[in-house]
Amino acid sequence: MANSQPCHKKPKGEPEYESKPDGSSIAIIGGTGFEKALSSPRLMEVETPFHYKPKVYLGEVSGYPVIFLPRHGLSHEFPPHKVPYKANIWCLRHLGIERIVATNLVGSINPSLKPGDLVVPHDLIDFTKGRDATFYDGTPVVHIDFTKPYCPQIRRALIQAIKGLGEKVWDRAVYVCTEGPRYETPAEIRMFRRLGADIVGMTSCPEASLARELGLCYASICLVSNMAAGMQRRLTTKEVMKVAEERGGILLRAIEETLRLIPKARRCGCRRSLDEASLRSNGTLKVAFQSLL
Ligand SMILES: [Zn+2]
Repeated sequence: MANSQPCHKKPKGEPEYESKPDGSSIAIIGGTGFEKALSSPRLMEVETPFHYKPKVYLGEVSGYPVIFLPRHGLSHEFPPHKVPYKANIWCLRHLGIERIVATNLVGSINPSLKPGDLVVPHDLIDFTKGRDATFYDGTPVVHIDFTKPYCPQIRRALIQAIKGLGEKVWDRAVYVCTEGPRYETPAEIRMFRRLGADIVGMTSCPEASLARELGLCYASICLVSNMAAGMQRRLTTKEVMKVAEERGGILLRAIEETLRLIPKARRCGCRRSLDEASLRSNGTLKVAFQSLL
């Protein structure tokens, strides 16, 4: 059994917050700083069985209760290959979250997609190498269905929200996730393009599959920050952050609209990810699943 207790301990020097998240809350996983968009954000630290206590903000965006989890830590201390993905996803499930909207900065591999564009990917390719990528390391052996890596219901809401703002949206795209933290080489980008990838980033894997392993809905809104290696002269973090700053406002408005549009009832198959996923009976699997929580 997981040895974790719900923990709302305050980090040293932080004020204490006792309120728990609302059951209808939706989690947003994104870059450091998004908490500024929350009204009355309250910080909470959550104990997990994974030797890391994620810190999340509870608050509201346009009146909707949300939990914001800064993927890279409160002060952006984790590079993409060191993000505690398992602790982050486990923590959200532990807090009762069922649905996650992620934001990702990406490079464009498809020449049609330009810096500043918004993309809602429908599929992904995992080219990461050394990440702790599953909750199911032992018995029973579990293989979840990942035919639809991103929740179709949240994808629909994201696409509708972006269109409603009068913005162009790329509503189908294949995201390839690299290990990082370096950017890719031109030869790698040419290979990814031949494999059918449209955008490249470093953070969607294993975040998306871990969410599915726990039966959570997960979809992503991606902001193109640059053309990928070999498609522009050189890549700089400064350039990436400039686009993020310029388009951050529209990203926030898209998320606000999405919160309004996500239907209350889950009518996708994400929560049934563990049906027929085990080589043993579902009863055994249920025990394994519950032991994670
Ligand atoms: Zn779903």
